[in-house]
Amino acid sequence: MAQKAKTKTKAAGKTSASAASGKAEKNKKLYTVIFFHDWCKSCGLCSAFCVKKIILTNETGQPYIEEMDSCIGCRFCEIHCPDFAITIKNRYPERRHTDG
Ligand code: SF4
Ligand code: SF4
Repeated sequence: MAQKAKTKTKAAGKTSASAASGKAEKNKKLYTVIFFHDWCKSCGLCSAFCVKKIILTNETGQPYIEEMDSCIGCRFCEIHCPDFAITIKNRYPERRHTDG
């Protein structure tokens, strides 16, 4: 009986932990990274400086984002771009990025 009660408490703890993480996920701030490709000279600095390593480069060296929702909005890429070719914008949590 005591064992059963213990199991029950453990399960309840798990539920509240997952509810908390679900709430945190819901309230997570999201950002959109915008590249101005006409200004970009494909130097790769933004990719090298991205703290989350989500800026990749294509075969011509142009940057693109792999997982937009993983961006933490630190603006490190924006600050280090020598050609002012990056802007970070806030995004509402419910507007999740779907096209990569
Ligand atoms: S740092 Fe700026 S210029 Fe260099 S690849 Fe990134 S966007 Fe292009
Ligand atoms: S704002 Fe920060 S996390 Fe987001 S793409 Fe730029 S360097 Fe990476």
